[in-house]
Amino acid sequence: MIVVVLVSAFLFGLIVGSFANVVLVRVPAGESIVQPASHCPSCETPVRPYDNLPVVSWLALRGRCRDCGWHIPARYPLVELAGGVIAVVVVLAILAVA
Ligand SMILES: [Zn+2]
Repeated sequence: MIVVVLVSAFLFGLIVGSFANVVLVRVPAGESIVQPASHCPSCETPVRPYDNLPVVSWLALRGRCRDCGWHIPARYPLVELAGGVIAVVVVLAILAVA
């Protein structure tokens, strides 16, 4: 049971980390965090849903845009992973207190 909780927390954290990437890139640039949808900053091609999975897609694409080959910074999967790890730590801390 605890494994299911921790894996769920990790996956949720990956999603939060992915959203954190959007905020970290767009807010300083004065852009909306809602529109447009995820796209390559180089060729502006919309990111396909299967290319938008936290960490997994970056690894599958070997850190490159599928369409133009733009190098996707490693910061993206690292922030996503940080979100996953933080979520697991928070859940473990909550369980330790309970
Ligand atoms: Zn591109």
